[in-house]
Amino acid sequence: KIITLFCLAALGLSALVLGGCGSDADNNKKVAVAFANSSPSWQKNGQTIKESLEKEGYTVDLQFADTASQQADQIKSQLEAAPKCIVIGAVDGEALQEVLNAAKEKKIPVIAYDRLVMNSDAVSYYASFDNAAVGQAMGEYIEAKLNLKGGAGPFQMEVFAGDPADNNAHVFFAGAMDVLKPYIDKGQLVIPSRQTSFEQVAIKGWEAKGAEARMEKLLQGADAGVKLDVILAPNDGLAGGIREALKKNGYGQMPLMTGQDAESQALDAIRKDEQAITIYKAPELLVAKTIRMIKAVVEGTQPDINDVKSYNNGAVTVPAYLCTPLIIDKDNLNEVK
Ligand code: BGC
Repeated sequence: KIITLFCLAALGLSALVLGGCGSDADNNKKVAVAFANSSPSWQKNGQTIKESLEKEGYTVDLQFADTASQQADQIKSQLEAAPKCIVIGAVDGEALQEVLNAAKEKKIPVIAYDRLVMNSDAVSYYASFDNAAVGQAMGEYIEAKLNLKGGAGPFQMEVFAGDPADNNAHVFFAGAMDVLKPYIDKGQLVIPSRQTSFEQVAIKGWEAKGAEARMEKLLQGADAGVKLDVILAPNDGLAGGIREALKKNGYGQMPLMTGQDAESQALDAIRKDEQAITIYKAPELLVAKTIRMIKAVVEGTQPDINDVKSYNNGAVTVPAYLCTPLIIDKDNLNEVK
C-alpha cells in the first residue's frame, strides 16, 4: 500500500513538474517579433533580440516582411499562437489597425519598435530613439556650420524627407525644420525649388532611387545653374541617392549634406568630405531597451519609460523609452561600433 501511494505521489509530482515546464516553455515566455526588412541592421537587431531572449528560456517567433500586406499576414498568424507580447517594427505604421484588433481582443500587449504603429489603441509601449532630437541635431549642425546665428548667408539649400508611411519621417523633418525655418523666413537659407512642405519633399518607401530621381529633376529645373550649399537628407540611404545625382551632374565639391544610421557607405563619404554628418543610433542601446521592455511586459512589471507625452499615434498616447542619438562627423568617426 505504502509503495503504491509512493508511486502515485511520484507520478503526480512528475506530472506537475512536466506540466509546469511545458506550459512555461509553450506559453509563459512566448513572444512574437515582426520586423520590416528595412535594412541589414534591422535583420541583425531582430536576430539579437531573438537569441538573447532564447538564452533566458523564451520562445521567440521572429518574422521579417518586405511589404505591409506580408507583415499584416505574419502578425495575424503570430497572434493566433497567443504570445505574451508582440514587438512590431512596422513596414507601414498606418496599415496595421485591423490586424491589431486581434491583439486587443486577446489582450496581447504590443510594443512598437523604432517606428510608432499608428491609429491603434492596441499599442502599449514604444521603444525608439529620440526621433525629434535626430532631426533637430541635423538642423543645429547646419545652423552652426554656416554660422546662421551670426547672420551669415544667403545659402542655397534643398530639403528632403523620408517615407510618408513612417511616422519617424515626419518627426525627423519637423525636428530639423523647427531649427531651419526661421532662417528660410529671413532669407539666409534660400530654397530654389520653393519645395519646403513634407508632402513636397517626402520620398516614398525611403527609396534611394526616389531621392536620386527627385534630385535629378531639381537639377534639370529650379536648381539648374545654382550652386547648392546645403542639402537636408534624412538618412544615409537617401543622401547616397542624392550624391549619385549630384555627381552625374558634375558636382565636384558636395554641398553640406546630412544623414542618419552611420551606414558604411556614409562613413566613407564623410571620410571623403562628400557628406558632413550622420546620426548614429547605436543598435545595442535600442536592442537592450527593447529586450528589457519585453521582459517587463511578460513578467507583468512596469517597463522603463522616459517619455509619456510625445507619441500620440492618433488613438492613444503611447508611453515610450527614447534612446539618445549621437552626431558623427569626420572628427568622431571612431565612435561608430
Ligand atoms: C528609421 C531610420 C531609417 C529609416 C529607413 C526609420 O524609421 O528610424 O533609422 O533610416 O527608417 O529605414
